[in-house]
Amino acid sequence: MDAHDEPLRAGGLLGWLGLRRLADRSADPTAEADAPEGMDDPQRFVRERQLEDIGDFLAVHRLPLTQITLAVACDFINGADPRLAALLAERRRAGEPITAEWLTECRHAATSEEEGRTLTRLMERLENNIEAFTRTTLDARSATSEYKTALRSQVDELQQVNRAGAVLGEMLAIARTMLEHTREIDMQMARSERETRTLHRNLDEARRTAEIDHLTGLPNRRAFESRLDKEVVTARNAGEPLCVAFCDIDRFKKINDTHGHDAGDRILKVVAHALSEISDDRCHVARHGGEEFVVLFRGKTLSEAFAILDEARETLAERRLVNRATDVPFGRVTFSGGIADLFEYPEPRAALKAADEALYVAKNEGRNRIVRAPARLTLVSDNADSPRAA
Ligand code: GH3
Ligand code: MG
Ligand code: MG
Repeated sequence: MDAHDEPLRAGGLLGWLGLRRLADRSADPTAEADAPEGMDDPQRFVRERQLEDIGDFLAVHRLPLTQITLAVACDFINGADPRLAALLAERRRAGEPITAEWLTECRHAATSEEEGRTLTRLMERLENNIEAFTRTTLDARSATSEYKTALRSQVDELQQVNRAGAVLGEMLAIARTMLEHTREIDMQMARSERETRTLHRNLDEARRTAEIDHLTGLPNRRAFESRLDKEVVTARNAGEPLCVAFCDIDRFKKINDTHGHDAGDRILKVVAHALSEISDDRCHVARHGGEEFVVLFRGKTLSEAFAILDEARETLAERRLVNRATDVPFGRVTFSGGIADLFEYPEPRAALKAADEALYVAKNEGRNRIVRAPARLTLVSDNADSPRAA
């Protein structure tokens, strides 16, 4: 077996790194081992060993001590996250460094996968519940119809007066059973209804969480995708313009490298907040991923949307931010943007691509600026007679 195909346990990877001692221990952190002399509490010994291994993991990869790196190291040493172990092994195989940024991205990807699974589970439970509810309703209807038939035949017989006493007795018995049965069905229906209501609430909550970016509190890329579909329909029906912009923080890697990942996270929140200032029910801001944001403007022409975004850019660029943990100034924090008129393109994806290309131009032209994507007809045909080419 190729060494790369070894089972993906913590021990495997650390062993690879030449940390055999560490690897042997971490393969099964709960395994008994001889405690050093004077260490008569085996649990404490295991705990201290784990702490030491976590420290070694962070040191080997030169990782800063943050909530995320600590959680990852802990999961890795304890073998609690096989998916992460596999990713780490793959990364190592590819010869890529294991950095705090990369771990953050893995963690975020895992969170949204988990949210997706929660949603699916809830949907399945909701479906089952609705099925059970439908069955109860059908039962209720068939029971009622059976009783109705039985009662009708008794009423017919009642008309033959000489059997009236016996028939009345039977009718009473049927009515009693019917009452009993109806009470049970009522209770079942009330229970199903309660469960369905709770499930609906959980589902709504899960949907909301799955569409929010945890760091900035902005809608995430998934939310943006569905918002885009809706806004395209609304704008088209109302004959309104719709513009899309991609914004990307300038030299963000340098901010991380100079001030640390946590400070980088705080800058992300500042930029998210600056952009959310322009949002309303017709302007939607989302975190598209990493240090990139996307903005949708409905009811604004390209020039109007450009002006709004450019003002937000300028307001942020004029601020002087200081790292509150160290009092060291961040210097100027800026972003660049590319903006496109969605209906200038044959379909929304093409407009997103154009906005992204305009962002690229903004970066190349020196950053801290917004660039308008050229109208599609100019790009495609260069035809001076075209009404949009002017
Ligand atoms: P440019 O001006 O060309 O956009 O340069 P840049 O440094 O901003 O771009 P680059 O793509 O080289 O680096 C982006 C960095 O953003 C790298 C990545 O680690 C970091 N990043 C992505 N997501 C997060 C996050 O959630 N938190 C922090 N702190 N950093 C992140
Ligand atoms: Mg950037
Ligand atoms: Mg970027």
